[in-house]
Amino acid sequence: MSRAGVLVAGGGAVGLAFAAAGRDPCVVLERENCRPANDPKETDLRVYALSPGTQGFLTRLGAWQRLPAERIAPVATMAVFGDDGGRLHFPSRRGEPVAWIVEGNRIVRAVEEAAIARGVDVRHRAAIASVSASGEGVACELADGSTVEAALLVGADGPASAVRGLLGLASEAKSYGQLAVVAHFACERPHGGVARQWFQRGGVLAWLPLPGSRISIVWSAPEALANELLALDPVALAARVRDSGGSVLGDLQCEAGPTGFPLRLVRVPRIAVPGGVLLGDAAHGVHPLAGQGLNLGLQDAQSLASALAARSALERPGDLAVLRRHERARRGDVDAMQFMTDELNGLFAAEGLLPRRLRNSGLSLLDGLPPLRDALAARAMR
Ligand SMILES: Cc1cc2nc3c(=O)[nH]c(=O)nc-3n(C[C@H](O)[C@H](O)[C@H](O)COP(=O)(O)OP(=O)(O)OC[C@H]3O[C@@H](n4cnc5c(N)ncnc54)[C@H](O)[C@@H]3O)c2cc1C
Repeated sequence: MSRAGVLVAGGGAVGLAFAAAGRDPCVVLERENCRPANDPKETDLRVYALSPGTQGFLTRLGAWQRLPAERIAPVATMAVFGDDGGRLHFPSRRGEPVAWIVEGNRIVRAVEEAAIARGVDVRHRAAIASVSASGEGVACELADGSTVEAALLVGADGPASAVRGLLGLASEAKSYGQLAVVAHFACERPHGGVARQWFQRGGVLAWLPLPGSRISIVWSAPEALANELLALDPVALAARVRDSGGSVLGDLQCEAGPTGFPLRLVRVPRIAVPGGVLLGDAAHGVHPLAGQGLNLGLQDAQSLASALAARSALERPGDLAVLRRHERARRGDVDAMQFMTDELNGLFAAEGLLPRRLRNSGLSLLDGLPPLRDALAARAMR
């Protein structure tokens, strides 16, 4: 039997960032057996658009400084196109990037290194098999038969969270009937740091700039189209992606991928019980069209670390009152992001002339109203 102050299940970016940000001694259990991005040449098909708020948080943790500079692509401006002439663009403010694109494995490695430097005990090949939780703490049995007791269990174990079920927290999932097809391409022309996104009848296609003249795509497409794209050979896929983006970057050459991720909306009405709480994708699944899932999860990590740090001397980390403060603090942001991405996806998936006019004129209208557009951008940049 070992004892931990706070036990975190899941060594993804969110679990590790929470552990690094908190004042309580933390043990992180990660199911996978090795640290990501050991080889400098290793690439990750999963890339994330990190908001300025996330960049600030990772800098405060000492993780941003550990990212290899040559793997970070600043985004100077974002351009969004409708399927009938609608157009919206988010320019940079005071020349600052609107976001940064970084591969997932680089982020996890940098956050893990920062967490270890801050005294967090990170254990790989460790997963929780059973939990008994109360306000006084949790007793967990691990898959290898060993046991750990802690004052609080934090479930940051991703969208299929086992901890969610072990804590008895209900969730509602809705499949979008879509897959996100991701791949990397070399481009004939420089991207100029522009992130582009097309809302089309065939789904939402995002071209995210990577260092050099390269892009990563996320094509959120209905299953039939996604499976068709996944079955194409690299040359045919590159031609399809090039044509769908109006050849704005000239010819494309497929460098890695494609692979597909099923898309689901996951709502978790309650994310806390005495002795246990959820963070990140374990607590909410959002459509990736706004590129906000990880940003939301890292905001969760900051919020829980702050709620724990602000508890009174009489309160324990696992007290429901402490965890509910965090739950209330996050509810508005999570609901708003799930509502916005769900509605946008529905609006652009709808057939017919009226929805088409609505969505395209909506985009152009927003583009002509800089205060409203900037307010929307400010929310996404937190
Ligand atoms: C195609 C696509 C594109 C996206 N693009 C963006 C973007 O541009 N910007 C953005 O902010 N977000 C984006 N997202 C969302 C983002 O991927 C997630 O929100 C983010 O990875 C969630 O991080 P997490 O740490 O909560 O979960 P995960 O990254 O899933 O990490 C969970 C960790 O827990 C481990 N684990 C699982 N089960 C157990 C267990 N039982 N015990 C111990 N460990 C366990 C796993 O091995 C993993 O390391 C995108 C998502 C998709 C599908």
